[in-house]
Amino acid sequence: MSQEQKTSIFQAKTIAEARLWKQREIALIGQTLGFVPTMGNLHRGHGSLIAEAKKQCDKVAVSIFVNPIQFGPNEDFEKYPRTLEADLELCTKLGADMVFTPSVSELYSRALEQSSFVDVPEELTNKLCGKFRPGHFRGVATVVSKLFNIIQAHKAFFGEKDYQQLLVIKRMAEDLNYACEVIGLPTVREADGLAMSSRNQYLSAEQRELAPVIFQILTQLKIQVREQNISIKKALETARTDLKIVGQDKLKFDLQYLDACDPNTLEIISNDAQNPDLHPEIVFLIAAKLNEVRLIDNLKV
Ligand code: AMP
Repeated sequence: MSQEQKTSIFQAKTIAEARLWKQREIALIGQTLGFVPTMGNLHRGHGSLIAEAKKQCDKVAVSIFVNPIQFGPNEDFEKYPRTLEADLELCTKLGADMVFTPSVSELYSRALEQSSFVDVPEELTNKLCGKFRPGHFRGVATVVSKLFNIIQAHKAFFGEKDYQQLLVIKRMAEDLNYACEVIGLPTVREADGLAMSSRNQYLSAEQRELAPVIFQILTQLKIQVREQNISIKKALETARTDLKIVGQDKLKFDLQYLDACDPNTLEIISNDAQNPDLHPEIVFLIAAKLNEVRLIDNLKV
């Protein structure tokens, strides 16, 4: 039995197949298309994007592509979990209509030195994750731009879990005049608050037990700043110290950043006794490593 029959979803493995499907199933009959770009190893977080796309659009396309150019040389591109069979099943179950699974060689048909890239301005890309993952957002913006051009959806759905990525994509779509509307959706969490992520499966049992501290820290920040009128500066200092002392000798968080930012511009914001005015909207963003596993999360307050 072929894969298509088993999962009853159309799998476009090439750009030409994806374009033909779009033409036949969407353009010719005046339907609307929602698009969910992913790197696969789908979980309930991805599922929530597919379900919302299904609600808002007639048809839904999901892409599954582990994008080599958004990984740094010492990152997890090779070992990133690839689970196509299970992913196709989940897409079918959630009512997606097409899954696009291009090859690296087709999407990047030229040597990288001869390729074109999409660079979103540094004010959005050189801070937070961008500081620790040089070239990452260039890789993300470039692949999403390619996928937008191939799929030509009316709406594309992204998770707020990758908050900086969402803003980068929104900015790219606006600056480059994509007709596709970029929609951000809330983070889906495990029962203990840990943001769902394909990388959570790298965590050992002990690391997994410690990981929800990240969301606890964000929740504590929200309570201190919004309910207890503690300044952002003080609350962040406490949070950074708390994160340092939690865990045991061999199992400690390695904090990359914990900042308060404007949710639209990602400008760092603060307040203290001298400067007590509180910004009306704040997003707290964090990235921390547990040994080799890098976890990110954020909370808008
Ligand atoms: P990825 O496969 O990790 O590249 O993610 C594909 C899309 O799913 C991105 O828009 C992510 O922000 C989104 N996503 C990942 N994890 C979650 C989550 N826990 N909740 C909501 N969306 C998520």
